[in-house]
Amino acid sequence: MKSNDIYNHVERLSELLRVDSRQAGAAYGLQPIQLEVLHYLSICNRYSDTPKAVTEYLGQTKGTVSQTLMLLEGKGLLSKITDEYDKRVSHLKISPKGASLLQKTIPSPIFIKACEILPDNKQTEIVAALKTLLLTLLQANSMKTFDMCHTCRYNIKTEEGGYFCDLVKQPLADNEIELICREHEFKNTGS
Ligand code: SF4
Repeated sequence: MKSNDIYNHVERLSELLRVDSRQAGAAYGLQPIQLEVLHYLSICNRYSDTPKAVTEYLGQTKGTVSQTLMLLEGKGLLSKITDEYDKRVSHLKISPKGASLLQKTIPSPIFIKACEILPDNKQTEIVAALKTLLLTLLQANSMKTFDMCHTCRYNIKTEEGGYFCDLVKQPLADNEIELICREHEFKNTGS
């Protein structure tokens, strides 16, 4: 078993990225958690942009997420919009100011520098290996996958060439199938 070896590499990478993210965020007066929330909201779909989904994805407490959201809202980086059908639910939308800040900070500078050096085929290999590790970890521990919509078992291709979610029974726009979802379940494993 190479679990120690894999763990040590992942841990070192995480630590380097955490430090870099702390520095990138500090330039805009933001803590890493605040950047993480903004980043999550930039890659999740409309069924996953709620405070509850943010809490699940980041594994933080409700109180921490709620304070973070208040701060981001106060800085004009996101806004809360009440759900059209259920007034108890709020959706979190990144503002143009938030999107522009994210563009400048994520991926972080040291990460971009490394990727510029790596050839395309190496980057593809790394993505595949990391994806295998992440999915194995999630599935082995029965955790939510939060993966992209186009890999979900509920995603159906319609006869007209569009997409439909068989869970929420709603059509999906082409750009939505690249986003991640809290209801996601893989096609092959059903886990
Ligand atoms: S198809 Fe799956 S991933 Fe896509 S919106 Fe529906 S439940 Fe979410």
